[in-house]
Amino acid sequence: MNFEHQIPDLHKSVFRVISKTASSLDQPVYVVGGYVRDYYLDRLKEEPDIDFVTLGSGIKLAEQLQKNIPDSHLSVFKQFGTAQVKTGALELEFVGARKESYRRNSRKPLVEDGTLEDDQLRRDFTINALSWSLNEGSFGVLNDPFGGLADLKAKLIRTPVDPEQTFDDDPLRMMRAIRFASQLQFEIEEKTFKAIQKMAPRLEIISKERIIDELNKIVLSPKPSVGFALLFSSGLLKEFFHEMHNLHGVKEKNGHRHKDNFWHTLQVLDNVAEVSDDLWLRWAAIMHDIAKPPTQKFDREAGWTFHGHDALGAKWTKSIFRRLGLPLDERMHYVRKLVRLHLRPIALVSDIVSDSAVRRLIFDAGDDIDDLMTLCRADITSKNESKVKRYMENFNKVEEKIEEVEKKDRLRKWKNPLSGEEIMNALDLEPCKTVGDIKDAVKEAILNGDIPNDHDAAFDFMMKNKEEFLN
Ligand code: ATP
Ligand code: MG
Repeated sequence: MNFEHQIPDLHKSVFRVISKTASSLDQPVYVVGGYVRDYYLDRLKEEPDIDFVTLGSGIKLAEQLQKNIPDSHLSVFKQFGTAQVKTGALELEFVGARKESYRRNSRKPLVEDGTLEDDQLRRDFTINALSWSLNEGSFGVLNDPFGGLADLKAKLIRTPVDPEQTFDDDPLRMMRAIRFASQLQFEIEEKTFKAIQKMAPRLEIISKERIIDELNKIVLSPKPSVGFALLFSSGLLKEFFHEMHNLHGVKEKNGHRHKDNFWHTLQVLDNVAEVSDDLWLRWAAIMHDIAKPPTQKFDREAGWTFHGHDALGAKWTKSIFRRLGLPLDERMHYVRKLVRLHLRPIALVSDIVSDSAVRRLIFDAGDDIDDLMTLCRADITSKNESKVKRYMENFNKVEEKIEEVEKKDRLRKWKNPLSGEEIMNALDLEPCKTVGDIKDAVKEAILNGDIPNDHDAAFDFMMKNKEEFLN
């Protein structure tokens, strides 16, 4: 029987070369893991990373393969016993079949050579343990010792061996289970999920880099709330992100209840995910209400309030990003800015939108004003349709106004029309605080609408007020 039809045409020629190379070394070889899984799910990328397992040395096979494929590149990771061959955009990863046993306090297993079956056993989920033979006589034959194909059909995440053992051996797999559930929109099989709930505190031994890699895959999945709901109910979320976990809960006083800020945040995140693939805009959704719990107060007139949660949330952003291992560069600045500004457009709606308020918002948000409006629209999660309609119409008005003001004043990429040097020359000043004060006064005058946003108006303004500045 011929099983070749399984092998995607796209990569068949590469697989042929690997097959020949392996047979010349007398080392059976198999495609395994994500590639095979994604093939059956019809979600193969054009340029995937492909994992291969061989009975023998993965490094030796990769070295020989690199010689057989013109213009390919070899990287060897001796300490892991793995090697990678790059050809074009393809990354081919090779490892020798292994048997692993674990010690309690480390993710680093003791490794011995093993059979194909041993190797499949050490893989995290049945759907990731599927493999295809690339060997002569069985090229394209599927090995599926744990019913991975049936689990793919049933949309189930399940471990090949006892789940408690699997997660105890490598607690990162708990994050991976939820990541795959969120990416693929699969269920986690009940026993597997119970084991995660039980083993959640073991996440402690996992580095923040590995956790954040999985978390960001959840954030980028089609409906991130799926993953976050599982992180929450498994108990994993509070292990590494207690601020988000703490959003959960509703208080009641004098018949007033506020909404549950955890579920609200997930809804906002899904709303953003529907219109944007941007990781950082999605992070802004996660963070926007993060400081609600400590700012919560009950007011007899107003009911529940969260005054200052925007400013406090912005303040927390850096330390949360640092602790989670997220970048602290302009990506953090962006998220922090959106958190700080996320109430401003709503506040604009309530008074009659004045030009100067809009000007200040454009100035503060800069080029991120459109993303801010996306976040604000996503933030409307009321079930009351007429309320939602009213908010959205108000946002339309704000956006029209933003466009109108921006056309006139071009504040998105604002730069002070007067440079320090020009101010010092004109007023015969040495570098001093006055120069900064003059720049600030020019900025205020422009934002107030007292003068237009241009150089000559700013220069006139300075000269007219110079007595005041110099005294
Ligand atoms: P992706 O599409 O995200 O790359 P993947 O399944 O290929 O998904 P990788 O992290 O690239 O995931 O790992 C490749 C394969 O290695 C997995 O399919 C799985 O068989 C195995 N694997 C990876 N990480 C683990 C782990 N922590 N424990 C057990 N097996 C793992
Ligand atoms: Mg992969």
